[in-house]
Amino acid sequence: MTADQHLINNYHFCPQCKTALVKDSSCLFCPNCHLKIYHNPALAVAVIAFNQQGEVLLNKRKISPHRDYWDTVGGFVNVGETVEQAVEREFLEETQAHCKIVRYWGSAPDVYGPEQSATINLFFEVKITSGQLQASDDAAELAFFSLDRLPKKIAFANTKVFLNLLKNEKGKK
Ligand SMILES: [Zn+2]
Repeated sequence: MTADQHLINNYHFCPQCKTALVKDSSCLFCPNCHLKIYHNPALAVAVIAFNQQGEVLLNKRKISPHRDYWDTVGGFVNVGETVEQAVEREFLEETQAHCKIVRYWGSAPDVYGPEQSATINLFFEVKITSGQLQASDDAAELAFFSLDRLPKKIAFANTKVFLNLLKNEKGKK
């Protein structure tokens, strides 16, 4: 089931006035109070850094969904925050290290959690500017992996897309 179908199939009543919602082309619409619920994806950042051996930093997830699977550092962009701030904040939260963005790699749509909520994930490469890497917050463990020997248990479809982008580009050199 796509995220859009999930929203349309499972949201029946207006959260403001409890009137039955009407399906519009781009949203669910309340004919009474005119509330619109759009199908926009949640914005998330996926952040990697390379070590001097060209290995990529991944973190093992401490929380559901996909607990104990390997993932990129990252998370959702907060309301009022820039994407750049989200990259630095998530990296600091999960690794205890400061970073700066060196490259934007691209993006991939995905879904998150049991609700299959739509996300759009922006891929960033960063350089570590200060601090010692130490797993914290949502990260249970941090490790560098060769792109040729990545772990089998990768958390999300978008993580695989990002790792494939990295592999393809590194393979060209
Ligand atoms: Zn309403």
